[in-house]
Amino acid sequence: MTEAVLQGPVVVLGGGLAAVSFVGGLRSGGFGGGIVVVSDEVETPYDRPPLSKEFLREGVADKIRLDLSRARDVEWLRGTPACKVDTPRREVLLADGRSLGYGTLVFATGATPRRLPALQDAPMPVITLRTLDDAQRIRAGLAPGARLVVIGGGVIGLELAATARGLGATVTVIEALDRLMNRCASGTLAAVVARSHLERGVDIRLGRQVTGFDGHAIVLDDGARLEADLVVVGIGVVANDELARAADIACDDGIFVDRLGRTTCPGVYAIGDVTRQRNPVSGRFERIETWSNAQNQGLAVARTLLDPTATPYADIPWYWSDQYDLHIQVAGVSMGDDEIVRGDASVGAKFSLIQLHRGRVVGVTCMNNVREFSSLKRLLGNEALPDRAVLADPGTDLRKLLAARRIF
Ligand code: FAD
Ligand code: NAD
Repeated sequence: MTEAVLQGPVVVLGGGLAAVSFVGGLRSGGFGGGIVVVSDEVETPYDRPPLSKEFLREGVADKIRLDLSRARDVEWLRGTPACKVDTPRREVLLADGRSLGYGTLVFATGATPRRLPALQDAPMPVITLRTLDDAQRIRAGLAPGARLVVIGGGVIGLELAATARGLGATVTVIEALDRLMNRCASGTLAAVVARSHLERGVDIRLGRQVTGFDGHAIVLDDGARLEADLVVVGIGVVANDELARAADIACDDGIFVDRLGRTTCPGVYAIGDVTRQRNPVSGRFERIETWSNAQNQGLAVARTLLDPTATPYADIPWYWSDQYDLHIQVAGVSMGDDEIVRGDASVGAKFSLIQLHRGRVVGVTCMNNVREFSSLKRLLGNEALPDRAVLADPGTDLRKLLAARRIF
């Protein structure tokens, strides 16, 4: 890898959270050179988390715009997809025929939802949820009594199911695996989430796949037919790394980057959902698909480009999810080989989970327990073995114990 050096002009591909955070970081760090952001979306930048929550309930787009006040004098090309990157010439080709020269290129192209070919020609709307336009179309179909079928029992599917129940829709969730939130939650958390949805009348079909449709019914692999007015597919995402791959930059469903955001090509960086980076807790190269990663990696890469002595990015991954009255926060890795339950892990309760791997803390989860989350996060990345009994007792004050180093 070559040294991380900032050369103008800077061209950023993608205008989501990672891009906004990066260009804001460059400007507030004193960079005065030219910056162009190339975005294929026509919309001014907006935040995605509300698309499955507040926005679906309220429908107010102005409330979800990202703050661009730190990104002064940035040229935004909206509704303009980039279609090729020529790294030897340091040039980006745009779909409208223009080309842009760069000194530094940053991929912030995010990810795209996976589609379900079996429903390609279905007569009812079949929508994935990533953009404001997707959310507007879903919102239009969520009248009271509407029959919503959600495919995928991950974060998108379950947040949508919760919001849709609140709006009076009937909801069925179809999940291919034998439990919910398999990618990002422990079995204990997933069971509490499942009970919560069942209590609100959501019909959950586990271990099932869609084989096709018959008129307005979705057909499952056990022969079940589910009449649907609206289908939302939330079966995961793939990285938008095709331009980088075509330019011979190392990718594997995500652009490989180091802690400075460097790719395998000099002068080219990547940030946010499109990256594949070393998870500081698991030690594995992973895609970290979270709001906090897009925000903080974008900012950290701007800082290290401006100042080689700045701390490289190594944040512990974490995300939150809101479903009904459940406020879930998960940091580190979601599953270990052992788990400590702090409190009463039942629906409506406030509790925390601590994931261990060979006795070390590798993950923490808080359910309606925001006050404990930052203390618990401090247990992560610590090589020492914690005292199990101390951690399991919900009465212990973690902040005091951490300060007195009486946990390890
Ligand atoms: P994106 O936001 O995807 O932005 C990338 C942009 O690049 C897009 O506008 C894309 O169209 C554009 N682009 C792609 N290719 C090109 C090209 N060739 N030329 C020009 N532009 C291009 N995370 C949490 O932690 N908690 C949550 O509660 C939460 N809720 C979420 C709810 C929803 C509905 C969604 C979709 C995501 C949610 N997330 C949540 C995840 C979080 O929003 C993402 O991790 C974050 O938005 C990633 O930001 P990004 O800038 O890397 O990518
Ligand atoms: P996900 O990977 O979290 O969940 C996808 C689910 O679909 C998995 O449970 C998987 O087993 C299931 N699945 C896969 N193929 C299937 C099939 N053919 N039939 C039925 N089920 C199938 O992905 P997602 O929920 O689609 O979320 C997409 C993106 O949005 C992610 O990047 C996620 O991080 C982001 N997001 C995050 C949050 C949050 O952190 N609160 C909320 C919403 C979205």
